Amino acid sequence: MRVLNFGSLNVDYVYQVDHMAREGETQRAAGREAFPGGKGLNQSVAAARAGVQVCHAGLIGDDGQMLLDVCRENGIDTRFIRAIDGPGGHTIIQIDKNAQNSILLYPGSNGALTEDFVDEVLSHFGRGDTLLLQNEVNLLPYIIDRAHEKGLTIVLNPSPINETLASCDLSKVSVFFINEIEGGAISGAHDPEKILDHMLKTYPDARTVLTLGGAGSCFCDAHSRIHQAAFPVSAVDTTAAGDTFTGYCVYGMLKGLAWAETLELAARAAALSVTRKGAVPSIPYLEEVLNFT
Ligand code: ATP
Repeated sequence: MRVLNFGSLNVDYVYQVDHMAREGETQRAAGREAFPGGKGLNQSVAAARAGVQVCHAGLIGDDGQMLLDVCRENGIDTRFIRAIDGPGGHTIIQIDKNAQNSILLYPGSNGALTEDFVDEVLSHFGRGDTLLLQNEVNLLPYIIDRAHEKGLTIVLNPSPINETLASCDLSKVSVFFINEIEGGAISGAHDPEKILDHMLKTYPDARTVLTLGGAGSCFCDAHSRIHQAAFPVSAVDTTAAGDTFTGYCVYGMLKGLAWAETLELAARAAALSVTRKGAVPSIPYLEEVLNFT
């Protein structure tokens, strides 16, 4: 039940504003709050709250202490989270009086991984270990190649979609977690069944989980296809629903649950997460998920 997550760690700075700042305008924000975030961190927290032993590897900047604290509070192994001088990965989020947002993402330390650091981290892992990846850190192609050489099982959530993915050898990935946007960009198709057809044809040995928001999720491998409905809840904030879903699927995979069972558990966890505000605070613990009906 051990997973290495080589992923992003972000501070989300949320500013309350009257309206989105316009070109040339200086506006005074009424308030500012800082929250832990980044798909990497969210997925580590979700897997850890499910009960997986998570080791998170990544870089934080000058303002990253709160990210380390969150990892530690959730029992995540932080020995491969290093601090570098300069700004860490962060977002600047404006929320206006109508609750609309605009987001500026600065990769900061998430874009400063070096090959030496990747090699050092991977030297502690090998066959039998699982590596969880997203696309919010630099050197993704290098990490995939080195991890595959060492026999790790690679699980990839290729989010956000960008040109880096074209340089990745995705045939080395064992499990894909994609949403409709990522699935559409990878396959050129819109229909979920066609997205899965494309994934199976292109990566015949891989498994793909396609999430469809409130319409649930689908799974395919060479032998089966499964559809899992979303649990009906009144959604308050869908931030990190996908990350919660992925983290709980990683738990199901490592525990050796059948995929149908894994998807159902992940759908329960993600449904709970959308009933709560925020990213990390919305991610449920296993006990809550098991008690959720
Ligand atoms: P995000 O980037 O916001 O984390 P995503 O696009 O990666 O999300 P989604 O496909 O939106 O992921 O959602 C993942 C899973 O969360 C869905 O498969 C579903 O089980 C659950 N989910 C999402 N939205 C809802 C909802 N409104 N009600 C119930 N469950 C939901």
